[in-house]
Amino acid sequence: MNLYDLAPAPLERTLGEIVSPPFRVKQIEEWLHVRGVDSFDAMSNLPKEIRTQLAERFTIAFPEVLTRTVPASDGSQKYLFRLQDGQRIESVYMPMGERTSVCLSSQAGCAVGCTFCVTGFFGPGRNIAPSEMLGQFFTIRREKEIPAEQMNVVFMGMGEPLLNFENLVTTLDVLYRSMSPRRVTVSTSGIIPGIDDLARLERRPNLAVSINAPDRKRREEIMPITAKYPLEELMASLRRFPLEKSRDLTIEYVLLAGYNDAARDAVALAKLIRGLRAKVNAIPFNADPNLPDWMKRPNDTAIDRFVETLVQHGVRVTVRRSKGRDIAAACGQLRGKEIAKSRATSRAESSR
Ligand code: SF4
Repeated sequence: MNLYDLAPAPLERTLGEIVSPPFRVKQIEEWLHVRGVDSFDAMSNLPKEIRTQLAERFTIAFPEVLTRTVPASDGSQKYLFRLQDGQRIESVYMPMGERTSVCLSSQAGCAVGCTFCVTGFFGPGRNIAPSEMLGQFFTIRREKEIPAEQMNVVFMGMGEPLLNFENLVTTLDVLYRSMSPRRVTVSTSGIIPGIDDLARLERRPNLAVSINAPDRKRREEIMPITAKYPLEELMASLRRFPLEKSRDLTIEYVLLAGYNDAARDAVALAKLIRGLRAKVNAIPFNADPNLPDWMKRPNDTAIDRFVETLVQHGVRVTVRRSKGRDIAAACGQLRGKEIAKSRATSRAESSR
């Protein structure tokens, strides 16, 4: 059993059955959930026999880092991890002055199938265990030597976090040992039962929802999940989502040239989200050879026009202009390159 798959309470119970006195259990919890070590030997204040005993019964392994891209012009860097069963997942490190964000994957693929997303293009993958989510976080935090109080975490990498709910909640409970829920954001494609489950948590992360079109027809074209969870019902679930003081929802909106980036689309989006305590994060599309040719990034004039129209209609908006653009930072692009490469190699080998 990997101890990082246990939330704080079951971890305490499990350790309490074999480790004594109780303060030793607290020390181990601190090494795991606060410091994020991946070796029992690193637990330097524990007697050797306890470390040996733990190593005989448990593991605390993290996914292996396969690739780190060269840092982009803005300092962001992408990590490709290999899981124990050979699956690959991505994470992104994004320094932002005083704060640092780490974008984590929650599944090793995605069944939701958004047509603008490389992870969606390559199809479903299994749920990622808490140890595999935490492994991305602690590995990057340690490598980059980021103080815990400067970290933000976003679940916006590969996969739909609300379709891996139980493991997500365990991961959140561990993250909350070293950071406030206010510094954690879960991004969803609009899984309504998952949003309602998140709403019932005592300690809720921030919620971001990928909307991407101001009407049901276009949203269903690029996000087929809309057929199952209609836009109107999704908006109703956002209206009932409890928000603490000084917290906002984030509405994500991928801008596709000539499709959803017109001023009238901004007006329709402003109308759609009216009454919600929300800010919009506009994300100019990242082109990728695996995605449809007609999908293009809007030019800067179109992006500015869209943003200004939102502002004129009283909407707070930020634009993710270039974060990681030159390292293929959109979800699944690095793994997509690898898969395409290995498919090309096996095609070449089979034609010999
Ligand atoms: S955008 Fe997110 S939910 Fe949609 S296919 Fe990609 S990973 Fe899945």
